[in-house]
Amino acid sequence: MTKNPMSADTKKIVSGEDYINSLRNRDLNIYLFGEQIKEVVDHPMIRPSINAVAETYDLAIREPELASVISPFTGKRISRFLHVVMSAHDMVLQNKMQRKLGQNTGTCFQRCVGMDAFNSLYSVTFEMDEANNTTYHSRLKSFLKTMHEFNFVVGGAMTDVKGDRSLAPHQQEDPDMFVHIAKRTKEGVYISGAKAHQTGCINSHYMLVMPTMRLGEADKDYAIVGAVPVEAKGITYIYGRQSCDTRSMEGGSIDTGNNTYGGQEAMVIFDNVFIPNEWIFMDGDYEFASMLVERFTTYHRRSYVCKSGVGDVLIGAAANIAEMNGVEKASHIKDKLVQMTHLNETIYATGIAASYQGHSTKSGCYLCDDMLANVCKHHVTKMPYEIGRLAQDLGGGLVATMPSEKDLNHPEIGVLVKKYLKGKAEFTTVERVRMLRLIENMTLGRNAVGYLTESMHGAGSPQAQRIQIGRAMQLEYKKRLAKVLAGIQDADDAVEELSGYFKRVFAL
Ligand SMILES: Cc1cc2nc3c(=O)[nH]c(=O)nc-3n(C[C@H](O)[C@H](O)[C@H](O)COP(=O)(O)OP(=O)(O)OC[C@H]3O[C@@H](n4cnc5c(N)ncnc54)[C@H](O)[C@@H]3O)c2cc1C
Ligand code: SF4
Repeated sequence: MTKNPMSADTKKIVSGEDYINSLRNRDLNIYLFGEQIKEVVDHPMIRPSINAVAETYDLAIREPELASVISPFTGKRISRFLHVVMSAHDMVLQNKMQRKLGQNTGTCFQRCVGMDAFNSLYSVTFEMDEANNTTYHSRLKSFLKTMHEFNFVVGGAMTDVKGDRSLAPHQQEDPDMFVHIAKRTKEGVYISGAKAHQTGCINSHYMLVMPTMRLGEADKDYAIVGAVPVEAKGITYIYGRQSCDTRSMEGGSIDTGNNTYGGQEAMVIFDNVFIPNEWIFMDGDYEFASMLVERFTTYHRRSYVCKSGVGDVLIGAAANIAEMNGVEKASHIKDKLVQMTHLNETIYATGIAASYQGHSTKSGCYLCDDMLANVCKHHVTKMPYEIGRLAQDLGGGLVATMPSEKDLNHPEIGVLVKKYLKGKAEFTTVERVRMLRLIENMTLGRNAVGYLTESMHGAGSPQAQRIQIGRAMQLEYKKRLAKVLAGIQDADDAVEELSGYFKRVFAL
């Protein structure tokens, strides 16, 4: 039986604690290690991911201007993660909040996919209605109003499992390789298929299901966008393993590296899951799938500014361990910390620039700069790896070879571990071990999923950004600039109305 997250006793979520309680007693079909999980909230492996989302609510209490807004629908204060961006400043503030949350959690706090999904849908549904006389935009606004009333978490489910990557959805041997409409009734549609790598899906209240790529007419049944409650009947979640994840089930607090916060991904399988008409925001309109995917990735690729916040933590950890090892004054150590900072701020700079150089869409909702967002994400596919490499350099081999917490606390050998793992006199061995474990956590362990692999593939693998950068780079315009200065072409011939990226660059 599906439990509706909006039952009569549902209250608006304000604090992290309210949020954690809102996740209790749900009737979810979740598998982890081959077993069904009855209560996610108290599961030691899942809880750190819930804590990371809870921090988004607590930050909104501590710093309301940064992490909350007044809802235009309800007039009440809600999370900034639920806000439709109506100015470049709104997008910049999203980035600042993301950096702060990266700093506070050292991991993925899971709410940006949903935020970027409904922001892209806001303008796309407006333009679909304009073209086809549909009513998707008002449905979306009504959905958002409900999310605002309860201050819910919305997840974004885009990436299909995709089967043979060389084939379109309708060409796959198994039609379920992409989520599609399996059945229609007067009241709505039923969808089947599976989405992979879904960030924070179990920690959300609703999911926005969207197509993952450009679609053709033969893929019409795959052109479906709708909102489903996480508890919807017919959904099975299979929890994703993360490197070193079972350390949180060992009972200690050191070997986990970051004992409080973690990320979450799961595979989501839809078996005839119902979406009522009022929460369908695209149905068969395949010609708008690429617009949706492109706008979503534009927002999401600059959301990866989150990694600069996580990077701040790793740079801090590297500086701390250098001090604990007594090498902080060495010139190469200082230079490596400068290099890490240079890389980290490059990520931030391109992300925040993409937001500053945003522009209005027809709906009034702002969209960030496509070129700069792709450049930001492309940096993110590389720079965190280099920052991680330098952190491991400063950490020394112990990052990967340290004895366990149980040995550290052992009544007999513990004293030996403490003696031989001691660094500089003013720091305890436990402090040094904790710092090394944090570096391990972020570069090899649980939060390396968010800091490294998610940086590589989230919002699209590196080649996806290169394709977008290639499309937008205006090479002919640049060739003309060179020809004029080389004396091959008259300056007058080169003057033409600026378009695309350079129109945005030179907009005054
Ligand atoms: C930690 C994490 C969290 C994520 N969170 C979310 C989320 O919340 N929601 C969501 O919707 N998605 C999420 N994603 C999914 C992410 O968008 C995908 O991982 C990404 O788009 C790549 O898809 P894939 O993993 O299927 O890789 P693949 O498609 O298998 O790509 C592997 C390689 O093959 C190449 N390739 C793929 N197809 C082709 C082709 N047709 N031609 C040539 N080369 C090709 C790619 O460029 C890449 O180099 C997440 C991913 C990760 C790792
Ligand atoms: S990887 Fe970053 S942008 Fe994506 S959901 Fe996590 S915190 Fe947000």
